[in-house]
Amino acid sequence: MRIENDIKLGFKDVMIRPKRSTLKSRSEVTLEREFKFLHSPIIWSGIPIMSANMDTVGTFEMAKALSEKKLFTSIHKHYSVAQWNNFLSSSSETTKKNIAVSTGISKQDSEKLAAIIKAYPFLNFICIDVANGYSEYFADFVKHTRRLYPEKVIIAGNVVTGEMVEELLISGADIVKVGIGPGSVCTTRIKTGVGYPQLSAIIECADAAHGLGGQIISDGGCTTPGDIAKAFGAGADFVMLGGMLAGHAESGGEIIEREGKLFKKFYGMSSSTAMEKHIGGVAEYRASEGKTVEIPYKGSVENTLQDILGGLRSTCTYVGASRLKELTKRTTFIRVNEQENRFYT
Ligand code: 5GP
Repeated sequence: MRIENDIKLGFKDVMIRPKRSTLKSRSEVTLEREFKFLHSPIIWSGIPIMSANMDTVGTFEMAKALSEKKLFTSIHKHYSVAQWNNFLSSSSETTKKNIAVSTGISKQDSEKLAAIIKAYPFLNFICIDVANGYSEYFADFVKHTRRLYPEKVIIAGNVVTGEMVEELLISGADIVKVGIGPGSVCTTRIKTGVGYPQLSAIIECADAAHGLGGQIISDGGCTTPGDIAKAFGAGADFVMLGGMLAGHAESGGEIIEREGKLFKKFYGMSSSTAMEKHIGGVAEYRASEGKTVEIPYKGSVENTLQDILGGLRSTCTYVGASRLKELTKRTTFIRVNEQENRFYT
């Protein structure tokens, strides 16, 4: 029996130590970054926070709202080509530059991806997303996609260890998505016992990716602006959010009214809710690995964005980083046994 004894950490296990700083105000902090990629010749600049490719948050409406603030959206894979057509015909150039087309690895998924890219060759990003990025078939699929789309920025995941990050980058991914089990509506760790604490996953995977000239997205587990700051501090190039962007006007699904209060449904993409909606139910050989929850309706996502971006700017001033790019270099984590004071919550 092999046990790795060094402890792996999540966001709740650390805080960022403040450092001497010459910054006078949060307004001096730039959150925008510019990225060049390992394989694709495209250059992207913006604030590297993105919406998850879930049908609840990776919506066209979310893309419009996020791109206005220079953030990114991985559009979920369940829109039809006709819906893409409608959306793109009314979208700004900025929105078009800040979205990825998501795909799974089935034949149908690849055909739909091909149809969308053929019709809209200006779309720059492809996000190949599977729950478990460790299969040989997945790496082969990434290789195949790279051959088909040599110029596109290819995002592939999810994995949580350095050697698999390297394999996917070598197979043709530009950016690797990191996270197994930390998600707010994920039950993988409960159903399978598999997972990796997210902060350690980021630290180890970023190291592997940056060594080869690739990037990573920290996907899942952020519950506060502070967690997003910790993800960037640990070395994430991008941070992907599901739960923090759910429940807004721009999120998918109907508003539900219950005893005078408004809610929106949010569910994992492997939950029985999602499987019933998209593939007619949970197949006999598998279990649902996602939760379905109702969250209080939060109105426009703009306020939440201000909270996130304001928090992140403040983190940067606490450690003296005038640009988000410097945050990792300026971050020292301290291990802790406490987080915030919950007396009034
Ligand atoms: P959050 O920001 O809500 O903590 O995490 C969002 C991430 O959770 C998504 O980007 C995706 O990687 C993951 N996720 C979404 N739905 C499911 C699901 O049904 N099961 C699992 N295991 N993970 C999910």
